[in-house]
Amino acid sequence: TPKRPQEQQKQKQPNSPPLPRQNTKTAPPSPPQVIRDKSGHLQFQRLGFLGEGGFARVYEVRDARGTRVACKVVTKSSLKTKKAKTKLYAEIKIHRSLEHPNIVQFQECFEDDENVYMTLELCTSGSLMDLLRRRKRFTEPEARFFSVQLIGACHYMHTHQVIHRDLKLGNLFLDGNMNIKVGDFGLAALIENPGERKKTICGTPNYIAPEVLFDTANGHSFEVDTWSIGVIIYTLVIGRPPFQTKEVKEIYTRIRDNDYEFPPERPISGHAQALIQSILTPLPQERPALHQIVEDAFFTRGTFPPSIPMSAHDTAPNFR
Ligand code: ADP
Repeated sequence: TPKRPQEQQKQKQPNSPPLPRQNTKTAPPSPPQVIRDKSGHLQFQRLGFLGEGGFARVYEVRDARGTRVACKVVTKSSLKTKKAKTKLYAEIKIHRSLEHPNIVQFQECFEDDENVYMTLELCTSGSLMDLLRRRKRFTEPEARFFSVQLIGACHYMHTHQVIHRDLKLGNLFLDGNMNIKVGDFGLAALIENPGERKKTICGTPNYIAPEVLFDTANGHSFEVDTWSIGVIIYTLVIGRPPFQTKEVKEIYTRIRDNDYEFPPERPISGHAQALIQSILTPLPQERPALHQIVEDAFFTRGTFPPSIPMSAHDTAPNFR
């Protein structure tokens, strides 16, 4: 079980003076070994640490029936502002409303005096980001398999009026059977009125759609997820995101100018190239609809594997 640095330090020096306040703020204390809701109906045994994001730490826990699930923990002290509370409640409201085989299933939400807890379906094989680091790039059959699952999940979200707004490899988790589970609804938005436009600038630099950055007067909508899907397909087959550079400002300039290329030293099929180009269209209304993307020749003409073997964690599978 990997321990966080602060926990290791605490165990080695049991009599050391309390850590300075500043330190407790950046690394809050661990949740209890046995996590309970206030009524005592729910009980989870904390097992290991899985990872942390912007404002939450995620642990592997075991429920009363012995099933392992993930538990996202948000310290109440980080929810002092009204804005932080509103954001967390929005994430919970949106995530718990969704149920799809390729979306991390939301289970329970409860609190104790210290923390707010969300239990989620456990994804045991990490994220596509971790997998890409090991594999460098994926074969086109693998890219087809992963992106069809992602598009299915995204189509489901959009028909439920939800824009994810932060689709990226690090938020695409894998279950034990190498199936995609879309997670992290921290930036998701609910479109409550038809035609409503969102104005908040959010997302992750490499994956952010041009209209989010440069059409702030008009706002953005569902097509921002389509753009991110284009960036994801490119990244799967090429091995790095299309607009990537060291400087964030320079990434934005490239996004504005639609300035990316297909490196000749990493050849991909003509179908892959044409599909990526059609999705990465600057004007959102000119991007293909999700159902058109899955009908594209890239998906219908090439090998489509029924599943991805576990060996794909280390080496490219050979699909015939
Ligand atoms: P944040 O919303 O704070 O960014 P995330 O939801 O991205 O937090 O989770 C942070 C990290 O926790 C992830 O990068 C991943 O390593 C791990 N994690 C999150 N959800 C799960 C899950 N359902 N199963 C396994 N690991 C998870």
